[in-house]
Order: sequence, then C-alpha cells, then structure tokens
Amino acid sequence: MAPADGRPALEPDTPSRDAAVEVIPLARPVMGEAEERAVADVLRSGRLSLGPRVEEFEHRFAARVGAPLASAVSSGTAGLHLALRAVGVGEADEVVTSPFSFVASANAVLYERARPVFADIDPVTLNLDPEAAAAAVGPRTTALLPVHIFGYPADMPAFERLAEQHGLGIVEDACEALGARHRDGVEVGGRGHPAAFGFYANKQLTTGEGGMLTLSSPEQKQRIDSERNQGRAPDMGWLDHDRLGFNYRLSDIACALGIAQLDRLEAMLAARTRVAGRYREALAGIEGLQLPCADSEGDVRGWFVFVVQLPGGVDRDETVRLLASAGIQSKPYLPAIHLMSLYRERFGHREGEFPVCEEVAARSLALPFFPEMSDGQIARVAEELRAALGL
Ligand SMILES: *Cc1c(COP(=O)(O)O)cnc(C)c1O
Repeated sequence: MAPADGRPALEPDTPSRDAAVEVIPLARPVMGEAEERAVADVLRSGRLSLGPRVEEFEHRFAARVGAPLASAVSSGTAGLHLALRAVGVGEADEVVTSPFSFVASANAVLYERARPVFADIDPVTLNLDPEAAAAAVGPRTTALLPVHIFGYPADMPAFERLAEQHGLGIVEDACEALGARHRDGVEVGGRGHPAAFGFYANKQLTTGEGGMLTLSSPEQKQRIDSERNQGRAPDMGWLDHDRLGFNYRLSDIACALGIAQLDRLEAMLAARTRVAGRYREALAGIEGLQLPCADSEGDVRGWFVFVVQLPGGVDRDETVRLLASAGIQSKPYLPAIHLMSLYRERFGHREGEFPVCEEVAARSLALPFFPEMSDGQIARVAEELRAALGL
C-alpha cells in the first residue's frame, strides 16, 4: 500500500499491465552485509537502547555535516518538535514557514500550540521566499522554520539576517537535504541553528525510522537530550525528572544501522547525483516539462527525490495511472499544506493565498529515484512518461 501521507511508497503496489514487467518503485534503500552485521552485533551485545552506538552515531553525523553537536531522535518530526521547544517556541507564538513541505514541518509547530504562518515559495528553488517570509513576520513571531525542499539549500543567509533583525530563533528542516551545501561552503545542517534530519526509508540515509538534530549550543543539546528521554536530568538516575519530556529516543539498533549507512553515504549520494544527471538527459526536450532547478551560485543540492512539474493542462492523475499500468510508480508530491483539511478547518486557509506554491503543488510529480537505479530503468521511465504525455 502507498502511504496516504504523500510520501513516496516504498513497495510496488500497483498492478502493471504486464505482470512480467518489472515494477520500478519510487524509492528503494541501499542495504548490505555491513548493515546486517552492524545490527546483528547490537543484538548480540544485549544493549539495544541507551548504549554506545547512540553517541557514536551522533559524533559521526555531526562531523559529516560540520556541526559541533548532534542529538539522535526517533524521527525527523520528533527532531523538529524538540528543536522548536529548544529555540523557545511556545503557545500562541507564530512560526513563519513554507507551505510547500511534507506536513511534518507545520505539524511540529502545532504540537506546541503555536501557529504556523505560511509564506509563498520561490518559483525556481521551491524554497520559502525570504521576502515573503519577511512580510509574514509579525509581533507574535518567535521563529523561522525554513525547509530545504527536495534537498535544495534554502537561502539561509537571508533568513539569518531576518532573524537577527527581529530577534527570532531559527530551526531548519533539513530532512530532505543530507549532502546539500550552501554557497558559502557550509554544509546544510552545519550553520549552528538546530537542523532536523530524517531517516525514514526513502531518505538519503535510513535507519528505517529515525532522525538527528545537529546544533551548536550545548545548552540546547542538554535540553533536547533530556526532553527526548522523558525529561530526565543528565546527572540523575531514572527516578527523578525535573521537566516534562517525551520518548523520542533512537535505539542502538537504529544507530548501528545509521553508522553503517554513514560508511556508504558518499557513494550513495554520488549515485543519486548520477541518476539525476541521467534523468536530465533522458527527459530533455519535453515541451513544458519543468525539471528540478540546477545548482546555482555555489549552492549544491543533496539529491533526495526527482520531482518534475508536468506541462500545463496535463491531467496528472491520468499520468500517474498510465505510468502505473506500465509498471512505474509515481506520486503527486508535494501537496500544499495550507490546503489540507486540518489546516483549512483550523485556520480558514483557502486557494489563492500562496499562488506559486499552489501552482507547483498542482503540477508536481515524483518519479522513481534511488541510488541503484539503472540507466535502463531511467530510460524506461522517460519513455513511458513521454508516452503518457502523448509524445
Ligand atoms: C521526511 C521529512 C520529515 C520528517 O519525517 P519523519 O518521517 O518524521 O522522519 C520532515 N520534513 C520533511 C520535509 C521531510 O521530507
């Protein structure tokens, strides 16, 4: 079954017109003997949680993105939630963020009874537009929550200036952006603000479920580490808790898997970049089809998904059906958050508020994209997409 939450499905779930045709899935993790060994070692050790793999994974991950500190958490969403608390977001506060994101980034704001205030996106990078964000800042705004959507770095220097000007906190949703780098040479996640990464099975690095916060403030890390573990004080035993916390821990099993994945991360990222380049060649020249923006001015994308925008007037649902009947998974990705029923009902959002986001959300289609995708598979997707578009 495809998850109903808008994320790419991981398993083939649509019968193709010819049962002998291999189904090309939207995403597929790279898993090998190293991962099996790492997990088996933890199982044999008897320390399945709160053991040595957690810190090791944190140190290795922080070093990879150039952040001083990191805290492993149970999901990207849990990371966003703890990060918002750590920068001081609370009830009735406003957080300026992107409506073109996976719903988790806005939901995390709601967990604290704060309000996500959306601003429109840049039509090229599809990231939160700094000028629109500036216009959305009001007296109740306490933080900015930019999302590095589809792995393309958000314009952090602009958001840092805006935050400085109004005394705001910054939390980065880097869940799609492992391997991305800003034009000033800093890796996404390495700027010092809490940045959340996610390790769901379709991400650049997976632990099945899981997440990581990178950050620079020891005080913030102490609070996050306490709150992920029921509010336990660092120097106390299990029995005293001086604040409210959650169970957002990541197990040693997951951390061992994450360490094994880090060992092959550069190869996996390079493979994703190769697949994206092949797609560009294979999809060139389809009139009206918009491909993901190229890296510009030194910003480097960390490839997560390959999302195209269909030519105007194309029936996207029909395109998805035609591709599925040819054994190719695809998915409308992403829907605009402000137009989801929860957000419409709670905040009275309607069509027309964020025209760039709405236009992009209406035309976006995620194609199969994973490191081990072969040239033959890419060619088949391109051929069937052309056929589905009547070309
Ligand atoms: C994957 C993702 C998350 C977090 O997902 P989890 O399933 O909680 O790990 C958050 N934001 C974005 C943009 C994502 O793509």
